[in-house]
Amino acid sequence: MTMQRETVDVLTIGAGGGAYPAAFRLARAGLSVVMTDPKGVMSGNCLYEGCVPSKAIRETGEILESQRRFADLGLSGQVQVDYPRMVAHKDAIQARRYAQHAQELATCPNLQLIPGSARFIDPHTVAVATGEGERRFHCRHVIIASGADVFVPPIPGAEHCLTSHDLYKPDPVLKILPKRMVVIGGGYIGLETASFFAAFGTRVVLLQKGPQILSGMDPNMVATLLPLLSPNIEMILNADVERVEARGSQRRVYYRQGGAEQQAEGDVALMAVGRHPVIPAGTAEIGIEVGKHGIVVGPSLQTRFPHIYAAGDVNGQVPLFHAAVRQSLVAAHNILGGDRALDYADFHHVPTTIFTLPGAAYIGLTATQAAAQGMEVIAGAYDFSEDSRAQILEAMGGGIRLFFAPGSLRLLGGWIVGIDAGQLIGEIGLAVAKGLTAHDLAAFADQHPMSAEGIGKAARSIF
Ligand code: ADP
Repeated sequence: MTMQRETVDVLTIGAGGGAYPAAFRLARAGLSVVMTDPKGVMSGNCLYEGCVPSKAIRETGEILESQRRFADLGLSGQVQVDYPRMVAHKDAIQARRYAQHAQELATCPNLQLIPGSARFIDPHTVAVATGEGERRFHCRHVIIASGADVFVPPIPGAEHCLTSHDLYKPDPVLKILPKRMVVIGGGYIGLETASFFAAFGTRVVLLQKGPQILSGMDPNMVATLLPLLSPNIEMILNADVERVEARGSQRRVYYRQGGAEQQAEGDVALMAVGRHPVIPAGTAEIGIEVGKHGIVVGPSLQTRFPHIYAAGDVNGQVPLFHAAVRQSLVAAHNILGGDRALDYADFHHVPTTIFTLPGAAYIGLTATQAAAQGMEVIAGAYDFSEDSRAQILEAMGGGIRLFFAPGSLRLLGGWIVGIDAGQLIGEIGLAVAKGLTAHDLAAFADQHPMSAEGIGKAARSIF
């Protein structure tokens, strides 16, 4: 007996950043759209356990660090760190945003969110396992936006470690402030988390497998950032974690460094060695190409089947929420164009921020990458030691670097370390993406006394 199929114009696998912007745009354009997600809510991992909840904790740390800098400058008295209440604040923000998303969904009659996990039956048929049994859909177009999940390596005792999921999901596992923490992994998630907890007074040991923290990122940016981080973080490089043991309430992490076995102990061990794409069942079986980093797509986001798109973390191109949102809209535009490539995602010009305290951010080509490609760049520089806002905030570490193409003086990329990094990369990012030159940046009256002033000054530094 063949199962009855419901027909929809578009089905999204997932309801996160790669899915819902397209779902709304297409539904508002008159198409019938179904989003599927086992969470039963919109926003994916970003709101559930990623960007938003981690920043709710981070911003509390930022306020605390500012308060410390002002302890002798007009703000006296010690602020008490109350981690359980920070967690309650984080949970409340998540709840507020879920309620807001439910309201948005209610305004869009052509769009349904079905709680359940989706799998491919054939290139036009998707089965969704719901609480009330399986539903099958005949779909004209599919957007695979199943995202990514925490990668837990097969290390003995890995189950004794927490992951970012346990820290940031609603009603998280970790609700009290650990005195000591071991972080396995010196990527941006591990370093950010180490930095927040260090601000709250936790002693953190961070174990990084290779020779560089934030491996793959610009070494000059990293070298500028690391000395500005809390002394409560001890960073151990070239540490190869071999096993984790639970000893009562303690976690002991054994690692090998230069041939010798060493150990680090904490109330909590965090596993933060990366994320991996979540590939829906049936994807490879129906003939969609899945590579090492995820589902293979070009800038039109189409898979081998022009009517099946893969947007967001699942394609492994730029695993960041804002990149997923843009890709989702590209997929929507190409669906509206009849599965022709009318719009393209720009994978090379997406801002990335490391939300440590203080943070760092970058976009495009840096001097080191240019050198590795045998290219020359002209570097513009501005240090926050001379910046009025940084001086007002008593946060003068770091600065802005901009990299221009010789001749055209087109801005190819840049980085910021220090105050407002995650905000400043917006202006620099737009300038890179739109091909502005050093002359354009130098001629724009960035506002005084704000940190964006430094962008114009960095551009003028090359003349
Ligand atoms: P992105 O930002 O790339 O959209 P996220 O990880 O934030 O990625 O969101 C992906 C969402 O997809 C998650 O909420 C996850 O629950 C959901 N998901 C994963 N696998 C499936 C599946 N097989 N069917 C439906 N939803 C899925």
